[in-house]
Amino acid sequence: MDKLSFPTEVVIFEVGPRDGLQNQREFIPTDKKVELINKLVAAGCKKIEVTSFVNPKWVPQMRDAKEVCARIERREGVVYSALIPNLKGLELALEAGLQEVVTIISASESHNKKNVNRSISQSLKEIEEINRIASENNVRVRSYIATAFGCPIEGDVPEEKVIDIALALEESGSYEISLGDTTGMANPIKAFELPKKLFKRLKHATLAVHYHQADGMEFANILASLQAGVPVFDGAAGGLGGCPYAPGATGNVATEILVEMFNRMGIKTGIDLNLIKECGRFAKSICNSCITN
Ligand code: MG
Repeated sequence: MDKLSFPTEVVIFEVGPRDGLQNQREFIPTDKKVELINKLVAAGCKKIEVTSFVNPKWVPQMRDAKEVCARIERREGVVYSALIPNLKGLELALEAGLQEVVTIISASESHNKKNVNRSISQSLKEIEEINRIASENNVRVRSYIATAFGCPIEGDVPEEKVIDIALALEESGSYEISLGDTTGMANPIKAFELPKKLFKRLKHATLAVHYHQADGMEFANILASLQAGVPVFDGAAGGLGGCPYAPGATGNVATEILVEMFNRMGIKTGIDLNLIKECGRFAKSICNSCITN
């Protein structure tokens, strides 16, 4: 093999305003969240997870979800989405006029139970219902599979388990499936082989990867997934994420480093490097208690 082969362009799915901010201890003023989202759009981000419609008792940082959605500029060609943990979340996201919602399920039973207090089969049933209602409202559904590369509680997660869940999600109508490396347990071999196996089985759903900081290994994983043909990469401006009270939960991959890496490789992202770097700085500046590298 003399030459590696890569796509000419990829999509970056920006999760900073939700995944990056949700665990910040101090409440970030709504104005700042709105400003961050508008800056991301100005930098060229076309797909942004702007908030989460989750019970404020569990995630107080996202208690202004409705207001954020009402106040952000809605630019043509940009998809604004929100994480929803359940049907109630969907209802609120529909009221907020979003075009896309994002569901979450874990590939390990114990993590799913801890995260959303349901069994995997209960979650799949609920996501099926979410897809049904979303589709009636012309809203698209993106689905995360958390702990896809390993679980902090159970350890190894069998690939077949991830594949079965992905196929069920596709069957339900989810248009995109994002494989989450929740606590940075992936390695380049898994990051290559799991997507390859999924490409053989999925009929039409797009595949994304969602890596977290893992002492630098995340970029080896990104390269391996890119080589496997994954077209969508999740990132959070400033590398935000994680939580001082959740050991093992590191920050997300920083979008600005993703963009820099793809730029150097000649792979188009549609995002301006200087502007996204500025978004990274801004994101970090609005957080008082963030973990970043
Ligand atoms: Mg994340």
